[in-house]
Amino acid sequence: MNKIEHIGIAVKDLEKSNVLFASLFGEAHYKIEEVASEGVKTSFFKSGPNKIELLEATNPDSPIAKFIEKKGEGIHHIAFAVDNIKEEIKRLQNEGFIVLNDPEVSGLKKGADNKYVAFLHPKSTNGVLIELCQEISEND
Ligand code: ZN
Repeated sequence: MNKIEHIGIAVKDLEKSNVLFASLFGEAHYKIEEVASEGVKTSFFKSGPNKIELLEATNPDSPIAKFIEKKGEGIHHIAFAVDNIKEEIKRLQNEGFIVLNDPEVSGLKKGADNKYVAFLHPKSTNGVLIELCQEISEND
């Protein structure tokens, strides 16, 4: 696994949070993207070399809506960049981690920001939802 790619924060109202985080970082978000398959609308901020992703649910069945219902707003996941997501998933499964969307079963999943993504169940990672992401290249 490489560097932390971004940290995801679940919010109730993306518009309001965009204003809040813009004043926190002194700079507005640089991107808004909806991932319809996940039921989320996201915005991305830069803080130096780091990225923060805000996530708002677009429907009541969205994983973000369920997260906020249970735990309230706050840190939702930590994403790590990987070079080869399929190999990394296999390695982690062999180590006993629970991968939520196994590409062998459902194919590689596309997330926001031009990435293939997979998540590890927080049950297997001390309560932390971990995202793996691999930049999608033109050859894929
Ligand atoms: Zn993310």
